Amino acid sequence: MESTLRRTWANINLDAIAYNYKTIKEHIGEEVKFLGVVKADAYGHGSIRVGKLLQELGANYLAVSSIDEALELRVNDVTMPILILGHTPKEQVERLIKYNITQAVTCKAKAVEYSAEAVKCGGNLKVHIKVDTGMSRLGYLCDNESFGTGVEGIVEACNMPGLEAEGIFTHFAVADEFGEKNDEYTKHQFKLFTDVITAVEEKLGRKFAIRHCANTGATVRFKETYLDMVRPGLLLYGYGEFAREWGLKPAMTLKTTVSTIKIYPAGTAISYGGIYVTDKKTRIGVLPYGYADGFFRSLSNKCSLMTKEGLAPQRGKICMDMCMIDITDKPLVDVGSEVEIFGENNSLDELAALAGTIPYELTCAVSKRVPRQYIRNGEVVEKELLLRM
Ligand SMILES: *Cc1c(COP(=O)(O)O)cnc(C)c1O
Repeated sequence: MESTLRRTWANINLDAIAYNYKTIKEHIGEEVKFLGVVKADAYGHGSIRVGKLLQELGANYLAVSSIDEALELRVNDVTMPILILGHTPKEQVERLIKYNITQAVTCKAKAVEYSAEAVKCGGNLKVHIKVDTGMSRLGYLCDNESFGTGVEGIVEACNMPGLEAEGIFTHFAVADEFGEKNDEYTKHQFKLFTDVITAVEEKLGRKFAIRHCANTGATVRFKETYLDMVRPGLLLYGYGEFAREWGLKPAMTLKTTVSTIKIYPAGTAISYGGIYVTDKKTRIGVLPYGYADGFFRSLSNKCSLMTKEGLAPQRGKICMDMCMIDITDKPLVDVGSEVEIFGENNSLDELAALAGTIPYELTCAVSKRVPRQYIRNGEVVEKELLLRM
């Protein structure tokens, strides 16, 4: 582990995540619960470490996308409530109950299956009902002419044996995008959601314990959508314009080292395809970081990485395991020097924009062969290599 760390590695700053959590809590207020979205290995930051941190800090819920992700947390001592946002096959209901995992119920067919399975194994499955208010993905459709049937379906699910409907939620499609049209869309989604809740609660004669819908965009931009709990992901990890607006800190710093330095004359083609040709005597550093580590090949010849002497332009095609940078005017950058791919000194948001994507995709892409080094109270508390050894 020590040796691989001097190659390419990701520093995960748990202090930054703790700071972000506390700051978000200050914004949302004491009464509003906090669900931390830790799907996709906590957006690449390590769901076990992040989950345990949030548990320790007193967060109320975690959310993942699959039962495998939920069980990974359970077998690693995360005991707090966990919600599965996505699909779970009905054969897994017994395990959901055994491990006390909450499942999203997204339509009548699933409600019927889950109920039957729960009854069969003699348990109660905790569920949150998902309402489709305009994301057009999962959830009971409730817009316009489907309002009545949607509400009926939800009431029916809440009354099914073996199901314990603790919560109800919806997901916004454009809460993180600006403009009047987008704001109207989000407000329409929210109104529809609260209308559905009112109608369902009236028919049921009882109230949902936890109503939630605010993702990152809504948490920062639409205070009225908090209801009982907010549900941010990206905000917690400190990326994007909303994190900047609240002064949050990016949690991951991805670093690599210069493995080899070569000096080429003018007219030398660098890497596959020869898309970059030196125009003068050029000092090139080879980095052990390529698209198999999570770099985006589409960034070839387009981005710059941070050295101790400032930004060094990346040159030529990005390879599977390596890429090259120009350090001609950086005499102090030597073999073994650290290079920051993104993090505290080189914005992930800018890199994502250059790649034509969103920051989510870049942290999720950091692959399992990149070791993670966790930092807490300013000190390294754990080094984790995800390869099968
Ligand atoms: C991923 C996800 C979130 C978190 O989204 P962010 O934009 O990262 O805040 C919230 N809710 C659902 C249903 C999700 O799938």
